[in-house]
Amino acid sequence: MAMLEIDGSKGEGGGQVLRTALSLSMVTGTPFRITKIRASRERPGLMAQHLTAVKAAKAVSSAQVEGDHEGSTELTFTPGVIGNGKFFYAVGTAGSTTLVLQTVLPALMLAPGPSEITLEGGTHNPFAPPYDFLALTFLPTLARMGPVVSATLESYGFYPKGGGRMQVAVEPVESLTPLELMERGANTRLRARAMVSGLSMSFAIRELDIIAQELGLDAGSVKPESINAESAGNVVCIEAESDQITEVFTAFGKRGITPEEFAAEALTDAREYLASTAPVGKYLADQLLLPMALAGGGRFRTVKPTRHTATNAAVIKQFLDVRIDLGQLEDGSWEIAVTN
Ligand code: ATP
Repeated sequence: MAMLEIDGSKGEGGGQVLRTALSLSMVTGTPFRITKIRASRERPGLMAQHLTAVKAAKAVSSAQVEGDHEGSTELTFTPGVIGNGKFFYAVGTAGSTTLVLQTVLPALMLAPGPSEITLEGGTHNPFAPPYDFLALTFLPTLARMGPVVSATLESYGFYPKGGGRMQVAVEPVESLTPLELMERGANTRLRARAMVSGLSMSFAIRELDIIAQELGLDAGSVKPESINAESAGNVVCIEAESDQITEVFTAFGKRGITPEEFAAEALTDAREYLASTAPVGKYLADQLLLPMALAGGGRFRTVKPTRHTATNAAVIKQFLDVRIDLGQLEDGSWEIAVTN
């Protein structure tokens, strides 16, 4: 099969271009060469998380790979046959385990048999899906397309040490079922959790006080938690559970910001979502395109699409003969339709 040429600097120019190419290369059997990997990032090229994703993809599809070393800006990937079974991937740093999982999931959910995957590294990383989003939003939505994937968090992993651990079981399907997700449904219930590791619980309590006040939550809907992790960390997750979908909005603590500033940050994405009637939030939107394209179709309503969504659509169209149409609706929300 002819080798596809992927320009890693296109659009968002981040790690997602590589991960989407790996996923679709495995599933379609199309070899590819990617250049200018992560050209738009401060430190371009393959970092630990991307390298682990490449190794994971190589193991699942018995691929031949060139250029798989740290800092590499070019990679050639020629997939073989997809296998299933037990896999263990350790990022080695706090790099995101969920992004590594999402790279191999399309192949494993269409594999000849079930798989069990153990992942070690970061579980709650800025600019990546946190475990909570994976378990409550991404995987349940994927399950509506057929594959049953369950994830269990064994320990939290934060920057810089990581050390988080997650177990994942995949029950594959022969093909994916197209999904329509146009309505959120009634009864949106809001909850918020604040987790601290190596920090005073008072941080979590102050953050949740503000969030509860801003979103009108009662005491039973907020939960401060003290957790054990190798590095200190602070994460806030706001969950919006509606009849059709649960969305999770996360903020990741950084040094030098007050609980008040942190709570305000956590509220930004949640407010954007709650102001709209769309079921799909901005992160799920870019992540749904790939399974929908593999299903040969799908349609959903979402908030304003991000550059990640546009970039992912462009990479998907290089591998699969699908149309991905984005259009704004009268109420301000957006409809994204995948057709073949
Ligand atoms: P880099 O660009 O540095 O390589 P990266 O490898 O993390 O970073 P990106 O291309 O930025 O990759 O892709 C990040 C992915 O993580 C996107 O699919 C995005 O939807 C998802 N994501 C980011 N933040 C969140 C969040 N708070 N909740 C859920 N998903 C998120």
